[in-house]
Amino acid sequence: MKRILLCLLLFTAIACSTNRDKPISENSPGPITLVIHGGAGTIKRENMTPEREAAYHAALQQALDSGYTVLEKGGKSLDAVIAAIKVMEDSPLFNAGKGAVFNSEGKNELDASIMDGSNLMAGAVAGVTTIKNPITAAYAVMTKSEHVMMIGDGAEKFAREQNLEIVDPSYFFDSLRYKQWIKAKQAEKDRTAAWIDPYTKDKKFGTVGAVALDQFGNIAAGTSTGGMTNKKYGRVGDAPIIGAGTYADNTSCGVSATGWGEYFIRLAVAHDISSLKKYAGLTLQEAADSVVMKKVPSLGGDGGIIALDRQGNVSMTFNTEGMYRGYIKKRGEGKTFIYKD
Ligand code: ASP
Repeated sequence: MKRILLCLLLFTAIACSTNRDKPISENSPGPITLVIHGGAGTIKRENMTPEREAAYHAALQQALDSGYTVLEKGGKSLDAVIAAIKVMEDSPLFNAGKGAVFNSEGKNELDASIMDGSNLMAGAVAGVTTIKNPITAAYAVMTKSEHVMMIGDGAEKFAREQNLEIVDPSYFFDSLRYKQWIKAKQAEKDRTAAWIDPYTKDKKFGTVGAVALDQFGNIAAGTSTGGMTNKKYGRVGDAPIIGAGTYADNTSCGVSATGWGEYFIRLAVAHDISSLKKYAGLTLQEAADSVVMKKVPSLGGDGGIIALDRQGNVSMTFNTEGMYRGYIKKRGEGKTFIYKD
């Protein structure tokens, strides 16, 4: 009897050990994927010139290429996210870094965050006005401080100490964004419908974000923005809030959001998608649909998300007319999109 029991125990032990997930090692690299967004909103074909459309596709491709190159060389998902976001922060086409929207005082106040899905480490900055690439400051907060979020002057002082690139606030100026702000100001004065509902009438969101999966099976997500046109001084949106605009967890997925930030904060959108996948057993797409297509609009908000899981499943889900977006899984096969169809 004892012998039979021993045999049974041995058999179970062997069965268990062979059932274990194979660790993703450098000898057997896993799939790599990068997904990005450049903001959601009322992006209509009739308002777009062919030149502008081509410029958006080119900028998105450049961001994909930059991030993918990191992944392809065996780099980390965090570095891929930073590389992709920096391209979009440097482009005036997007509402992040150069070309950020103006707040009600005519200033550019920037927010950004990043999260490492392998250990749930995160970093964020909010309301910064002189850091050229806020995503690098978010990363520095995560890796070089004991904090998760730093704001305003303190974040800028820290960025200087970390030798990040500092610019004069005028660097962020873009004439198109300035005109948008003047229009929003006028609407506010006139108390028109566009003021009462400023963001749904002139939805020129343009926040940027990236989610990457590296060959080690690690997911990272990041988001960077100038916020919303004519926002009140000191207003902070969802982009730098971990769980709202950004979340990453290897055991679930990575998410970066864009849209009407107040709603995304109240619904903890990025974390909710991750939780629905992790605890309720929904697929990535079901989780994204449940939050972006049902919960956000039911409160009156709008916007979109990009998400990615460890199997390389991608979701680019939005309830607006368009979202600048793209993904890449293989060299030369990067795809970029603007409209719903
Ligand atoms: N979510 C951003 C914010 O509320 C805006 C955007 O996505 O464009 O600050």
